[in-house]
Amino acid sequence: MPEVRLDLSDPSSQLVEVQIRVQPRLGPLLLSLPAWTPGSYLIRDYVRHLERLRVCQGHRELPLERLGPAQWRVPLELAPDRPEAAGAEPVAAEPGAADAPAVEASVAAAEPITISYAILATELTVRTCHLNGDHGFLALAAVVLQVQGERWSPHQLDLVLPPHWQPFVPLPPEADGRWLARDYDQLVDSPVEAGPHPCHSFTVFGVPHRWVTWGDDLPAQDGRWLADVTAVCEQCCRLMGEAAPAAEHYLFLLHLIDQGYGGLEHDASSVLLYGRQGLARPEGRRKLLQLVGHEYLHQWNVRRLRPCQLSPIDYDRPSVVPSLWFAEGVTSYLDQFLPLAAGLGSEQDLLDDLGADLSRYLLTPGRHIQSLVHSSQEAWVKLYRQDAHSTDNQISYYLKGAMLALVLDLHLRRHGSWLGAVLQQLWSRFGRHGRGYSQQDLIEAFASHAADLSTLLPLWLESTEDPPIEKYLADLGLHVIAEPSETWFTGLQLEQADRGCLRLRRVERHSPAQQAGLEVGDELIAIDGHRLTNVESLPALTRRPGQQPPQLCLLTARHQRLQERRLQAELPRPQSWSLQIDPEAAADCGARRSRWARLQP
Ligand SMILES: [Zn+2]
Repeated sequence: MPEVRLDLSDPSSQLVEVQIRVQPRLGPLLLSLPAWTPGSYLIRDYVRHLERLRVCQGHRELPLERLGPAQWRVPLELAPDRPEAAGAEPVAAEPGAADAPAVEASVAAAEPITISYAILATELTVRTCHLNGDHGFLALAAVVLQVQGERWSPHQLDLVLPPHWQPFVPLPPEADGRWLARDYDQLVDSPVEAGPHPCHSFTVFGVPHRWVTWGDDLPAQDGRWLADVTAVCEQCCRLMGEAAPAAEHYLFLLHLIDQGYGGLEHDASSVLLYGRQGLARPEGRRKLLQLVGHEYLHQWNVRRLRPCQLSPIDYDRPSVVPSLWFAEGVTSYLDQFLPLAAGLGSEQDLLDDLGADLSRYLLTPGRHIQSLVHSSQEAWVKLYRQDAHSTDNQISYYLKGAMLALVLDLHLRRHGSWLGAVLQQLWSRFGRHGRGYSQQDLIEAFASHAADLSTLLPLWLESTEDPPIEKYLADLGLHVIAEPSETWFTGLQLEQADRGCLRLRRVERHSPAQQAGLEVGDELIAIDGHRLTNVESLPALTRRPGQQPPQLCLLTARHQRLQERRLQAELPRPQSWSLQIDPEAAADCGARRSRWARLQP
């Protein structure tokens, strides 16, 4: 059984000293560090933070052969009486050990191996490591080397912490203060937080839960917080048709910083990153509760009810998953309903949140370039690698997945079912038995509730046309209202750059700005002879009554060369959309809407 010891006792160094002791089984020893962590589909090359790797057996340092950026091979000489010794390679000669008797070498081969190295912990996100005098947070996929042949063995975890720090680990504790993971997968699915933080305990349907905040003590500041979190967690269980959570214990870790947003799901924990500035906004608390519900719902959807391409997980390379729209889109759709369904918030809050999503969706021209299946398949190279052109050539599987979930939910309701029923069916057929599902399994599950989805769903997944959102919203007595803009349409967006200059941060594809020859990064100096001083100072773009779209004269700079360009503005386009109740809608729409909004069949 590998024994992993993580030493955080010198937090100001921002280095975690790692030691792994393992009994050699088969020679040679193969070591690798994951390139990514499940739930966050980007090759992160965690090995860039690894330093001073040494492998020793007793007092002997063993030679390391690098097979790849994050893979090593350690030749081992095994005892001759062990059957697996056949084919093992001899240990490279060690200086001063050339005349050591052969019998000693074979005895030494049975000695445990100690792997030691350090991990630089300077990146504060939910999927990286951060250590300083205030706290330590470790995403263990970025920390613990995998020893080939030991993946399915139990792993023991030991932490060495500065005085007065407490460990918070979502693993079963041992009597001696260590933790035991069932296997390597469970170990790296267990984020480690440590520090002098307060910890709050509560239960969800009898299952013990803990809430730990680094930053401020949120439950101490907000007396209703834990009760509301409990209500949302209970609602997740009800949605899954379960009497209790899937985990036997659960840990919420919140990193509350000035600004930021993020979450990562695990089998028995969630790591959340949230901004105090966001929390201070009117919708901030509700959005954090939705994030709590989102990650908690992943306990089922994506963690235990898992795409077949992620069962088992390949930590070394990307796995193409065509159904991320279901794992993330359906979860993103449902998380917005959780507070209201749990008795918190109002129907208007839900309409505001869904309207904001719909608005973001309709303002993304990339939805006509990339289908939902392609968005899921290309997660590794597109969604997590956004640039100035992403809005024009891609659509998030979270966002369009949530829009499709809305359409599917309302389509199923027309057929006497609903989205929750499909989710529960998939859970009992696949997730409960640890069976991975394919895209076809999803389509068949939906079609078993509404037969026409066997053709409609593949069409919606593969098409770059919008699914018929407005048509379905009419079932609920809702219509989509466009908010007009006060400015002419140009397709350019500015940002304040250094030395007070304004740069183009976006040039929309096929827009007047692109046709005028502008590109991202150009400096915009003046419009119609008026010097621009800040991103809001574009008076020439404000529409005046009775005026036709003007032709503008732009003074720009590219690579320090001035250029004059003509831009023909176009009529204003909507700047946002909202969901509103249609007063003319049929009388039964209100009752239907009320059940839908509360996640009732
Ligand atoms: Zn998610």
